[in-house]
Amino acid sequence: MSLSDILTHLGEAREAYFGAVAPPVVQSSNFAFSDLASWRAAFADELTHHVYTRGNNPTVEILRQKLAALEGTEDCLVFASGAGAIAAAVLGNVQAGDHVVCQQHPYSWTSALLRKFLPRFGVEHTFVDGTNIENIRAALRPNTRVLYLESPNTMTYECQDLAACAELARSRGIVTIADNSYCSPIYQNPAAFGIDIVVHSGTKYLNGHSDVVVGVLCASRAMTRRIFESELMTLGGILGPHDAALVLRGLRTLPLRVERSDASARFLLERLEHHPKVERLWYPFHATFPQRELARRQMRGCGGLFSVQFRTPTMERMEAFVHRLRRFLMAVSWGGYESLVIPMVGFYGIPGRPEPHLPWSFCRFYIGLEDPQWLWEDLEQAMEVL
Ligand SMILES: *Cc1c(COP(=O)(O)O)cnc(C)c1O
Repeated sequence: MSLSDILTHLGEAREAYFGAVAPPVVQSSNFAFSDLASWRAAFADELTHHVYTRGNNPTVEILRQKLAALEGTEDCLVFASGAGAIAAAVLGNVQAGDHVVCQQHPYSWTSALLRKFLPRFGVEHTFVDGTNIENIRAALRPNTRVLYLESPNTMTYECQDLAACAELARSRGIVTIADNSYCSPIYQNPAAFGIDIVVHSGTKYLNGHSDVVVGVLCASRAMTRRIFESELMTLGGILGPHDAALVLRGLRTLPLRVERSDASARFLLERLEHHPKVERLWYPFHATFPQRELARRQMRGCGGLFSVQFRTPTMERMEAFVHRLRRFLMAVSWGGYESLVIPMVGFYGIPGRPEPHLPWSFCRFYIGLEDPQWLWEDLEQAMEVL
């Protein structure tokens, strides 16, 4: 099925709702039955029938079908946040006494799930530098049940060899989970390399308008059903139908947006790479990136995220640079219209928070959909103070 088929037609039964071109928002908590036979059929399988919106909802179902097709998996579940989808994927595959291996710098709340939450339930973890599969192999124990990957991760873009990790894990009966938020399904499909569960913060590219927080879990029909019946139905962290409709709206332009961000990021990188105030660049397809060959093998593009370490003598000048940026918004997250910057210097000196593993001269940029020349002018004038 082509991308256009998925985005325009898949899951959209327009004849059932007046031929409406945009998917309907079925804002109903529950669904009525006209006879006991249909009641019994629905309660026999709440994942595929409409009983109650904590389980399934027609608007949410359209979204699930499109996301599963985009990632090339049999089914998909959506959650109230990326963190909710990640927690469901991990919790659905561990029990007390089990062990999880995770690449060393995952998303901060994924790390918190493993470090702070799961130990309360007797689940141990090991973080490893996943850029070398031998580190992963060495960390596996007889009780390892989950190998958690994030390739690339979203500050320094460390990659893991997805096919090799999937093969290693499968040979030991270990479930693989990969966070694919960085690439989006447009530029990478971990399931095609044998990864069992693909998770996303759909808050980023998939919704793409900085107005919904949403999580995505794509997997086989059996895995999806198991997680539906336990983590989704019992913990109940569902996406509401109105938010699902907003994400469907966002998906229509997903390829256009991701390609535009990708092209504009490359436009800026070409100008940054020879600038005297730039110490180092992080971007998976850049000539200086240590894992460029692996990135090119498993990804079709990079999108709008890259990081820069600036060459500047003092923290004060770094702070002046941040304050001089006018067109980039200082904000976390990414994937919307607006270009953003996360200045690492902003994480220095926060009471009760450990110092970051990255230097204060480091910034992560997200390049949105604005005119890239307009963004370059802003960066160029701000770099004058470094
Ligand atoms: C934002 C993010 C998450 C968490 O998603 P939320 O939607 O914010 O809960 C998980 N993984 C990555 C890589 C992210 O960037």
